[in-house]
Amino acid sequence: MSEFHHIPVLFDEVITGLAIKPGGTYVDCTVGGGGHAQGILAKAGDGGLLIGIDRDPAALEAAQRRLQKGPGRFVLVHSNYTELDKVLAAHQIDGVDGFLFDLGVSSHQLDMKDRGFSYHQDAALDMRMNPQASLSAYDVVNGYSERELARIIGEYGEERWAKRIAEFIVARRQTGPITTTGQLVDIIKAAVPASARRLGPHPARRTFQAIRIEVNGELEGIKPAIISAIDHLKPGGRICVISFHSLEDRIVKQSLQESAKGCVCPKDLPVCTCGNVPKVRLITRKPITAGQEELATNPRARSAKLRVAERL
Ligand code: SAH
Repeated sequence: MSEFHHIPVLFDEVITGLAIKPGGTYVDCTVGGGGHAQGILAKAGDGGLLIGIDRDPAALEAAQRRLQKGPGRFVLVHSNYTELDKVLAAHQIDGVDGFLFDLGVSSHQLDMKDRGFSYHQDAALDMRMNPQASLSAYDVVNGYSERELARIIGEYGEERWAKRIAEFIVARRQTGPITTTGQLVDIIKAAVPASARRLGPHPARRTFQAIRIEVNGELEGIKPAIISAIDHLKPGGRICVISFHSLEDRIVKQSLQESAKGCVCPKDLPVCTCGNVPKVRLITRKPITAGQEELATNPRARSAKLRVAERL
């Protein structure tokens, strides 16, 4: 079995942000290879309990290997964090001392050629974080209309050439299905003008990000999961969320801000009628980002933003 290569991002900042209590109960909603989880259990000690959720079984196997060497108890669950309520109920977990969300894909997923996440390696178009999920990149690229493709690539990839890329994909489909990441990269390269390709990152980066977000429904689950996590926190418990691009960070920021504000009445109402009360206090007004040292050793940290809140 291949090693799980993934350096946890903002590790010290997460451990500090969670303000870990010995003997506490923690939930890592994106446990991955267990890098952060190991640090959490090391601090929570022998009395500590960690619930680790991931929708990728390969990640859970790696987390199992890593966590079994350390202190504390842990339970690993193959699920989506959108099922958080059910997962916690099934394990009779009531009050939680801290939640971590480390959003997006792991370096390991990007590196595993057969998963089809990377535009650097030619592989079948897949990109499913959960290999049992029904929708794959193949279905999106070959099945979506030109309009849908243009919208996804524009919105989720923030790609200015989205319409042209969608047009080229649909034109190429006329000759047969697009089956590999390599074919998709070639189509994108043909669609993006040479002058635009000379500058900036790989021309396929934004489109691949967009298709990955669509395949895995990465954005719609974030807010409900954060709200649900906050509802399960004990007073004084912490929630840490790491995001990797502006679309994610916007959702994280708004979710935490709304929970901190309580009232959601329209601004022009003279008195509050919604009756919502603040549930958290924001620990970070501005997100925490990686320092020079981490940036030099972990490229994945470049776009990472950590936000922390505490349950009232
Ligand atoms: N913190 C981990 C790395 C996490 S990488 C570590 O230190 O090792 C992000 C992980 O989140 C990936 O393994 C991915 O499969 C998982 N993931 C992403 N979205 C998810 C979701 N909605 N539900 C469950 N797991 C998810």
